[in-house]
Amino acid sequence: MNNREEVISEIERLSQDLIYLSDKIGQNPELGFKEFKTVSWLTEFLFKHNFQIKKSVAGLETAFRAEYKFSQSGPKIAYLCEYDALPRIGHGCGHNMIGVMSVGAAVALSKAKGLKGSIVVIGCPGEEVGGGKVRLVNEGIFDDIDAAMMVHPSNVNRTYSTSLAIEALAFTFHGQTAHAAGSPEKGINALDGVIQLFNGINALREHLKDGVRIHGIINKGGESPNVVPGLAEARFYFRSHDKKYLKEIINKAKNVARGAAQMTGCEVEWNNFEESNDNLKPSKKLADIFEKELKKLETEDIMPPEKQYGSTDMGNVSQVVPSIHPFIKIGDDITGHTVEFKEATMSEKGHQALIKAAKALALTGCELLSDSKLLEDIKQDFKKRE
Ligand SMILES: [Zn+2]
Ligand SMILES: [Zn+2]
Repeated sequence: MNNREEVISEIERLSQDLIYLSDKIGQNPELGFKEFKTVSWLTEFLFKHNFQIKKSVAGLETAFRAEYKFSQSGPKIAYLCEYDALPRIGHGCGHNMIGVMSVGAAVALSKAKGLKGSIVVIGCPGEEVGGGKVRLVNEGIFDDIDAAMMVHPSNVNRTYSTSLAIEALAFTFHGQTAHAAGSPEKGINALDGVIQLFNGINALREHLKDGVRIHGIINKGGESPNVVPGLAEARFYFRSHDKKYLKEIINKAKNVARGAAQMTGCEVEWNNFEESNDNLKPSKKLADIFEKELKKLETEDIMPPEKQYGSTDMGNVSQVVPSIHPFIKIGDDITGHTVEFKEATMSEKGHQALIKAAKALALTGCELLSDSKLLEDIKQDFKKRE
């Protein structure tokens, strides 16, 4: 048996364990940065298959790094696990599958013969709440990694797509409370500051490049109509396909906030209320290898590359390491962050997709560790891009 056949049959041998694990995580959802049970199940599985485990990496209790070494030196490829759930809905984004696809691929590949280098599994908590991967990247957990991969469940098969960089800013306006009818001249209306901020940002929209998304809410706007609001706050998400351009937009928005404060006599301050994510820019060469493997596994309906308008902390990983973030189809008429999506992860179709994606991930890793020129080519291409 060659390595390719070996990896496929290893995933098939593991398939009942993988499906059981994915469903168990699906039925026991844990919120971002509190995924304690999930992490213990995933790392137990890896430990059983001779991976060395390090828990609580980068100061995050539910992050982990596991490694299997074929040799002391050589390339290191990483499979990324996500595993956090959504409030109320549970695993409506299907992260129960993501962790299991990655550990399944890693374990199957570790049984292959004649490879050099290491397989690393990185447990990435809290994707839905601002992003554990941001911290893991900043703390250097990816510094020795040559390529990073994960698969996200979806309603389509797609191997290449980009996402938007995001910055989450809260603007707080400070004014002066006063009786709104008895002595309005003594008040400074913080809510007016927020309203002028919205007006200014809406005027700014007209002069921004295509594909920018700005969306905000007023989360503090006063307590009662007969009191001039002394404190008001708006929270905004700013998004763009280009993280450099996003910085320009943020600077303009801060000027708008300064102007709004001056117009109304308020003081304004701002802070980032969630981690910022970079735009996702996968490695096309690596995505092509994954796509070739997915096709060999009899997947016909692979959608063309797409610009997507969400954001993910995988963006930060893709800026420092050649990465892929493909999608695997688990059902037709389903959308993410719903109960229906969660149910699809535990359906027959979801189980088949889990096994297929684990195979494609393992086979892609097998190519990378078998052919050093291929990985070098991917890394050179990554260095050259702007
Ligand atoms: Zn999600
Ligand atoms: Zn997700």
